[in-house]
Amino acid sequence: MRTVARLQPFRSTIFAEMSALAARTGAVNLGQGFPDSDGPQGMLDAAQKAIASGLNQYPPGDGLPELRRAVSDQVRREYSLEYDPDGDVLITVGASEGIAAAVLGLVEPGREVILIEPFYDSYAAAVALAGARRRVVPLVEQTTQDGVVRYVLDPDLLRAAVTPQTAAIIVNSPHNPTGTVLSAADLNLVADLCREHDLIAITDEVYEYLLFDGRVQHPIAALPGMRERTVRISSAAKTFNVTGWKVGWITAPRDLVDACRAAKQWLTYTGATPLQAAVAHALDVEREWLRTVPVALQGARDLLTTALVEVGFDVHPSEGTYFVCADARPLGFTDAATLCLEMPAAVGVAAVPVSALADDEDRWAPIVRFAFSKRPEVIREGARRLHALRR
Ligand SMILES: *Cc1c(COP(=O)(O)O)cnc(C)c1O
Repeated sequence: MRTVARLQPFRSTIFAEMSALAARTGAVNLGQGFPDSDGPQGMLDAAQKAIASGLNQYPPGDGLPELRRAVSDQVRREYSLEYDPDGDVLITVGASEGIAAAVLGLVEPGREVILIEPFYDSYAAAVALAGARRRVVPLVEQTTQDGVVRYVLDPDLLRAAVTPQTAAIIVNSPHNPTGTVLSAADLNLVADLCREHDLIAITDEVYEYLLFDGRVQHPIAALPGMRERTVRISSAAKTFNVTGWKVGWITAPRDLVDACRAAKQWLTYTGATPLQAAVAHALDVEREWLRTVPVALQGARDLLTTALVEVGFDVHPSEGTYFVCADARPLGFTDAATLCLEMPAAVGVAAVPVSALADDEDRWAPIVRFAFSKRPEVIREGARRLHALRR
């Protein structure tokens, strides 16, 4: 094996593996979280126009000025957060590069980063790239007054994870894979810890527009004393149905952006100029389109959730994102990793085992993540096939 030791655990991603398996078997892919319809036509046209008009050379290192301005306007409009387009905004090659740049630029080797489990797999890889160590805190189940089981942070577990070596905590809400929107209490708990222990919050808010049932996004950066210690990351991928464009951004105070840039400029220097122009256009003018997306997605969530309940899964309600998690034990399956490997050939549906996004594989063993960011006919066909799992 030629791969360096610190990257050996990260040689492939579960999403790529499951998508490849879905393609090989002709399965309906409810595994990887990408939408199967295009973003707003005006944005697609803007990208083509940008290429035709010669916007094809390197943009400035921090990103195209009009995109930085559009991002700054968007966070002010949505959250009343002020970020100077010249210095507080850094355009990245997707949120993924933003996360890697934040960890590489802000966390010394040997220091610790707290991840909330289950976690998007790139977080653990970014921590490994930096030569840092991850400390993992699981979400725990809590039953609400109306009998709904939600995932929440356990204050004692989170506090116990902070050590003198802790440098940062990565928080993702709405949360992939569970579909949880962290409560105000959970966000305040994170903020308290960051203030008490002088930690940096790296917030992954790529699903900031994909919340259901009237919920709205509350950035941690907007909490008292948090703007100065928060690196807020988002992306066009999930906001505008362009996961293949890889246009993301960081908003943070200048000293934190400086640190992220120090890493980012040596990773990619910059991303694709015409796509940045198109995303700037979309942030400025496609606000009506943005309001329609969660409505349609909520319908898709309901369709898939109802189907999974009918099949016999124990479903955790999804409050946002592209995903819903379901416990397979009522169907007689205790190991979702095996189930997800067998399902494409056996019933013609691909999904992702949540244990692949966790250190404590036993804790998450029976949980399957299904993506509903698909056209209704695709979800219906997936649901029809899943009925074969019934015993
Ligand atoms: C999809 C996703 C990303 C990656 O976003 P890109 O802009 O495509 O790099 C990051 N974080 C989470 C939680 C995601 O689901």
